[in-house]
Amino acid sequence: MSQQSVRQLFLRHVAQTSPSPLGLEIEKAEGLYLYGSNGEKWLDLISGISVSNVGHRHPKVIEAIHEQLEKYMHLMVYGEYIQSPQVKLAAKLASVMPSIDSVYFTNSGTEAIEGAIKLERRYTERKKIFSFKDAYHGSTNGALSLMSNEYFSVPFHPLLPEVFHLTSGNHQELVKIDADTAAVFVEIVRGEAGAEVVDPTFLQDLRLRCTEVGALLVVDEIQTGFGRTGTFFAAQGVNIIPDILVVAKGMGGGMPIGAFMSSKKIMDALSDQPVLGHITTFGGNSVCCAASLATFDIIQSLKTEERIPKLESIVRKTLVHPAIQSIRGKGMLLALVFETDEFAQRVIAACIKKGIITDWFLFAANRLRICPPLTITEAELLVACHVVLEAIDECYQVDL
Ligand code: PMP
Repeated sequence: MSQQSVRQLFLRHVAQTSPSPLGLEIEKAEGLYLYGSNGEKWLDLISGISVSNVGHRHPKVIEAIHEQLEKYMHLMVYGEYIQSPQVKLAAKLASVMPSIDSVYFTNSGTEAIEGAIKLERRYTERKKIFSFKDAYHGSTNGALSLMSNEYFSVPFHPLLPEVFHLTSGNHQELVKIDADTAAVFVEIVRGEAGAEVVDPTFLQDLRLRCTEVGALLVVDEIQTGFGRTGTFFAAQGVNIIPDILVVAKGMGGGMPIGAFMSSKKIMDALSDQPVLGHITTFGGNSVCCAASLATFDIIQSLKTEERIPKLESIVRKTLVHPAIQSIRGKGMLLALVFETDEFAQRVIAACIKKGIITDWFLFAANRLRICPPLTITEAELLVACHVVLEAIDECYQVDL
């Protein structure tokens, strides 16, 4: 099949949601790199949007997948059979944070958010939910209801009622969380807002307020979890313990898996009135769980708490240029802020030409995303930063 026709088939038959997809045809991926069908090689500076935390096709993940394939794949709908990769993974995840020791596996981030919405409503028997302006929690109806951005949500109304939006960092607004509130959904670093770090004292006050009124605090770690900000979960880095914690993306080492986690006491609400309070056919697929189990161990062996701050400081020290207004974010979830969307788009295109894949953010198109696999070495990151700097400078010189 000629190159031209593959592209045409992609545009014609793979449902398109973007007017300008990147459209790179990838033949193979390994470690930090993607290889194109015309001999191109790109360093993946965005980890397929915070997914490939252990790099592409990590040998230990591949090995775990192969081993599981030899035993079984899908057996039965969620929760009926005892499947050892699932059980081992749940126990490992339960060991990370005290009290968050019951895990419901899903296939994606947004599906885990849907489960969390049902769980907090069922457990509290309340309806009102708060989330934050410019937060992104997913694209299915419930998750979309949590989104404040009207451009993306209004065309799909009606969505869930009784969802309200708070301003991150505004301590005064916390009184709006009251005894009718079922839950508050929060990200520790608001990824799609452009890697906006939420003030830890605000998060601690939010935790206190939720406890005070009996609302559940749901922390969305879909983008921040599995070592991306340094600690295994970002909540550990700001000393808060959520009531419900949601993960996905980096969790599967490249395989599709997510989860919402809570205490057994809260989670038990899904097995009572109604029984089968949340159902999934594929959630917790054994092959995905095996991949995630290997991913968990790799992340632990990477010693992210020590390494990630060092990697972050390389980016902050190296990427200094008059066109960069600031660097937002934490750990390896960083954003370079430019003056305009248009400039950011040009830099992104220039980076791709130079062999570095990067991207913008859903709610911040003037920002360039830096979130490489956490396996990247300091030397590799330094080289990548210099290429990005070169691309920025070329675009900047044109404007002078
Ligand atoms: N929450 C956050 C913080 C996310 O970044 C994303 C995905 N970008 C989601 C939820 C939704 O995850 P998924 O795309 O797997 O449904």
